[in-house]
Amino acid sequence: MGWLGLDDTDSLNGGCTTEVLFQLLKDLPEFVSYSNPRLVRLWPFAQRRTRGNAAVAVELTTENEKELLKHLDDWWIQHLIALKGEIGTSNHSDRTQYPADPGMVWVSEAMNDEVFYKSAVSSEIQLSELPSVTRHWGGNGRIGATAAILWPATHFTYEAIAWREDDSEGPRQLDEEALTLVEDLEDTFLCRNPKLGTSLLAPRGNSPVLFGIRAWSKDVAQQALSILENGKDTEPSKGSLVFQTNQATGDHLGKPIEAVVRSKSILKKGHVVLETSEGQWMAFRQSHTVALLSQWLIEGDIILGNGLRDENNVLHLELLQVKQSMSEQKRPRCKVCNKSMKSMGKNQGLRCKKCNQTSSRGWIEVERVAPFVGWVQPPPSSRRHLSKPLEER
Ligand SMILES: [Zn+2]
Repeated sequence: MGWLGLDDTDSLNGGCTTEVLFQLLKDLPEFVSYSNPRLVRLWPFAQRRTRGNAAVAVELTTENEKELLKHLDDWWIQHLIALKGEIGTSNHSDRTQYPADPGMVWVSEAMNDEVFYKSAVSSEIQLSELPSVTRHWGGNGRIGATAAILWPATHFTYEAIAWREDDSEGPRQLDEEALTLVEDLEDTFLCRNPKLGTSLLAPRGNSPVLFGIRAWSKDVAQQALSILENGKDTEPSKGSLVFQTNQATGDHLGKPIEAVVRSKSILKKGHVVLETSEGQWMAFRQSHTVALLSQWLIEGDIILGNGLRDENNVLHLELLQVKQSMSEQKRPRCKVCNKSMKSMGKNQGLRCKKCNQTSSRGWIEVERVAPFVGWVQPPPSSRRHLSKPLEER
């Protein structure tokens, strides 16, 4: 029947949104049942985004909506109001930290809205733009909560999440054998960083999440969850849920954009700024192949790119491909000793410094060979949650 959405409950003292939903479901009165928990990733540049930028929603069924709303009122007061004003943790230490401003939304009937959802994954949404709902609580978090409810879920994947017990401390304990089993399951994805050989299942740092396993199907998510939870060296969890999610759907991107490179600057750390016919594009060093390919580009190259535009309208590249590259002008090589010939001065031709052979030709056109053919994408560990892996396209 109805849907409940929740967002912006993250804080340093816990309050991870998925865990808050788990607690809320545990506390539901007997006359309410739940189904279809979902985890919806939103626009990564949202000004007040939370850690991981995820909102959650769940379908609730009851014969007594009035009592359910009373229960939710109480639960809101007891558990969520207190989180307002908490400062969230972030992987990006350079950005302004906004205090949590939890929001909860209830709609009596299932609703979906493709247009609203698309803008929530690709642009900033204001509170004033929210559609009217049956009941809402709190502030900024209502934006994500609403988007999670309105997500039409035309493409989806799954993530099984388990949470640590409240008194767990220190490094997460996950059974090695079970980890390998899960990572090798067909239909799980983004479980391992192939370059470093490290597991991506457990979050780092201060998070109540014990692990999250992404899968293309619900059955596999469920199966993987049970393997890892039951691994003999896996620490006990306080519980788990399998979420339907918009992760790896590519929903945040429109069609690729074709552009001509006007100029390129490579910044100190290897980040690349491209001025193109379609505005400024940026490739971060962490995007690895995307940055390497960007570094190779020269003026006049025609490229295809895709990514999100930030608040300054700079496109952050998540996909890049060379469509047509300029040839390069090079000095010809000496026919005798194959050394590159040097100019003897303006209009005076070239000379080989080794054997003094001369040539009247100044330049030859050489085709440049791009280091990568076809689309390139950042490695799993620096890819957005929403990004669709290339091999699934
Ligand atoms: Zn020579």
